[in-house]
Amino acid sequence: MPAIDRPITELLASGPPKLSVEFFPPKNEDGGQQLLRSAEAIRPYRPDFVSITYGAGGTTRERTFKYAKILREEFGWLVMPHLTCVGSTRGELLDIVAGYHADGIRNIMALRGDPPKGQTEFVPSPDGLRYASDLIALIRENFPDMCLGAGAYPEKHPEAASMDDDLAHLKIKAEAGASFLTTQLFFDNEHYFRFLGRCRELGINLPVLPGLLPALSLAQVQRFGPMCGSSLPRALVEQLQVVENEPRAAEAVGVTWAYHQMKELLRSGAPGIHLYILNRSGPAITLARSLEREAA
Ligand SMILES: Cc1cc2nc3c(=O)[nH]c(=O)nc-3n(C[C@H](O)[C@H](O)[C@H](O)COP(=O)(O)OP(=O)(O)OC[C@H]3O[C@@H](n4cnc5c(N)ncnc54)[C@H](O)[C@@H]3O)c2cc1C
Repeated sequence: MPAIDRPITELLASGPPKLSVEFFPPKNEDGGQQLLRSAEAIRPYRPDFVSITYGAGGTTRERTFKYAKILREEFGWLVMPHLTCVGSTRGELLDIVAGYHADGIRNIMALRGDPPKGQTEFVPSPDGLRYASDLIALIRENFPDMCLGAGAYPEKHPEAASMDDDLAHLKIKAEAGASFLTTQLFFDNEHYFRFLGRCRELGINLPVLPGLLPALSLAQVQRFGPMCGSSLPRALVEQLQVVENEPRAAEAVGVTWAYHQMKELLRSGAPGIHLYILNRSGPAITLARSLEREAA
């Protein structure tokens, strides 16, 4: 009998603030080694759970599965694999979930996914699903004991016509059976606080885990920000501009920025922090150490 994982909602509801880190499944052997080195470096800081993404276009089905297994079995972590609707039929999606379920995994981040490169509009696969809420409903119906994370967008999903529309859709996602929400990255906490207030007004009472990206460089945030619909505070841009050609100094700026965000979020009652670490350990370790200090 495989060990059965604890639902993340149970963790979020108890004890000190939680730390989760996000890995992505590497494309090749070198990338795989880098992921494992980072995981090894992070291990002593005991993240409460880790997630492993599902590649754009549904291209990493096997690799997500493989690294979820490694991180769970070799590192002993509570692992939440991501799953998107892209490129799969309902039957295929259920097969993937069944595989995780049989292994004892009980947490999945259920997403729609982005349209493939070059396409602006999301077109569901034949016999596939259109929205994350459809995936959540499908999993909830067939695997009622799965704890389901869902994506949330404090600055609005880029395709949504308005924040009101996006929140109405988020409510559908919550009612379909999402267990908790993890946000898209943001650099200004005001977006999170405002978003949380709107959720509560609308009766969306799920835990909302804030997602932070410790910035690595000006070029990186200028690429990621618009891609994710996340605005860049002028102060952050100016600080990164000063150290544009000094990677270590730029990383320090990014980590310090994320540290101040984290401190304020936790002080305001956020259930924890989710770090988009892009398979790098350095920023995660610095922030995990600070989190220990904050909790002490
Ligand atoms: C925490 C997090 C993790 C992520 N991990 C991955 C990953 O591993 N792999 C990956 O490829 N991508 C990932 N993404 C990106 C995500 O796939 C994209 O943002 C995608 O464009 C939307 O996914 P979603 O699940 O939020 O979609 P949905 O909730 O379905 O929303 C997509 C759009 O449709 C609208 N919408 C939703 N429901 C309805 C409805 N019923 N009627 C009309 N409109 C509706 C929404 O307002 C929104 O504009 C992640 C995002 C987040 C926040």
